[in-house]
Amino acid sequence: LFDSVELAPRDPILGLTEQYNADTRPNKVNLGVGVYYDDNGRLPLLESVRKAELALVEAASARGYLPIEGIAGYNKGAQTLLLGKGSPLLESGRALTAQALGGTGALRIGADFLKQLLPAAKVLISNPSWENHRALFERAGFVVDTYAYYDAQTHGLDFDGMLASLKAAEPRTIVVLHACCHNPTGVDPSAEQWQQIVQVVKERQLVPFLDIAYQGFGDGVEEDASVVRLFVQNDLTVLISSSFSKSFSLYGERVGALTLVCSSKEESARVLSQLKRVIRTNYSNPPTHGGAIVSSVLNSPELYQIWTDELGAMRQRIRAMRQQLVDVLKARGISQDFSFVLKQRGMFSYSGLTPAQVERLREEFGIYAIGTGRICVAALNSKNIDYVADSIAKVIA
Ligand code: PMP
Repeated sequence: LFDSVELAPRDPILGLTEQYNADTRPNKVNLGVGVYYDDNGRLPLLESVRKAELALVEAASARGYLPIEGIAGYNKGAQTLLLGKGSPLLESGRALTAQALGGTGALRIGADFLKQLLPAAKVLISNPSWENHRALFERAGFVVDTYAYYDAQTHGLDFDGMLASLKAAEPRTIVVLHACCHNPTGVDPSAEQWQQIVQVVKERQLVPFLDIAYQGFGDGVEEDASVVRLFVQNDLTVLISSSFSKSFSLYGERVGALTLVCSSKEESARVLSQLKRVIRTNYSNPPTHGGAIVSSVLNSPELYQIWTDELGAMRQRIRAMRQQLVDVLKARGISQDFSFVLKQRGMFSYSGLTPAQVERLREEFGIYAIGTGRICVAALNSKNIDYVADSIAKVIA
C-alpha cells in the first residue's frame, strides 16, 4: 500500500532548528524561530497563565466533552478582544465564534467551510505570506494565488501593486489578510491604506479572511484589533482566525478561534450549524485545558490586567531589540540604512539580508535565519544582540 509513497520535503523552518540544535558553538543564535523568547532566551510562562492554571488545578474539574464549538466563555472572550468591549455586535448575535486548535485550526475549519460554500472560488494570499497559508488552503481544495505585497526596494509595502491585484480579482475571491504584524515581513498597511483596501474588498465583492496571530504585539491589544473593527464597521461579512499561541505563550495548548460576522442573528445560527458539522467530522470538539486557561484570564478583570501588562512588556522588549539592532549596526559604521526595522511591527523583520549573507551568518557565526532574510526579533536579547549585530555588520560589509 505504501510502496509508492514519496518522501515529503522537510519543513524548512523546523529543518533549520534541527541544524541549530546540532550546532555545538556556544554563541549560536536561532533567529529562524517563530516564537517569543524572554531576555534570558527562554520561552516564558506568563504569570497570568500560571495563576489561572493553579486555580484550575485547585478546582479539579472532571473532563467531559466540550460542546462542538468549545467553551462559551472562551468564545465570548475571543470575540470581545476582536470587536471591542462595548461593540453592539456582541449583543446582536450576528457574530459567532468557535474555539479552534490554534490559529492554524481556525484557518482550516474556515477554509473547509468556505470550500463547501464557494467550491470554485480562488484564494489570494500576500506575496510573501506565512508559509502554511498556501499549503493549508490548497489542502482544503482551493487554487491559491498571491496579491502583491512586499516591496524589496523600499523594505515597505507595494501598496499600488496590492490594490491592483485586489482590483483584478473576481468577485467572491477569498482574500487572506494579516490584520496586524505581518508574518514574515513585519510590514503592515497604514490606517489610511486599510481604508482603501476595505473599499476595494467591498467594491469587488471579495471575501475577506482576516488572520490575526499577533494581537497585542503591534501597538496594543485594542489598537491591533482596529483593522478587524474597520472591516466590520463597513458591513462586510468577514471571517477571522485568531491565535493565542504567542500572546499567551501557550503554543502547545493549541488555543485559537474562528469568528464569523454575519448579516443577521438568524444567518449566524445557520452558519454556526454548518461550521459545527465541519468541526464534528474533523476532530469532534476541542480540548479543555488551554481553552480553560485563556477563558479564565479573559474573563477575570484581575488576570486580564496582569496579562495585558505582560503582553505590553513583550511588545516593549521587541521594540527595544529593534532599536538596539539599528543602533549597533549604525555604530559599526554600516552605510546601509536599517531604520526600516523600526517601522516593522510584531515578532519578525524582513531584514533585507540576501540568501548568501544568511548562509554566511550560519556558516561562520552560528546565527540561523530564514533564507528569505526573515529574522525573529523576539529571539534577540541583551546577551546576543551585540554578537548578532556585529556578525550582520561583517557579512554585509
Ligand atoms: N497565522 C499566522 C500569520 C502565523 O504566523 C501563525 C503562527 N506562526 C499562525 C497563523 C498559526 O498560529 P498557531 O500556532 O496558533 O496555529
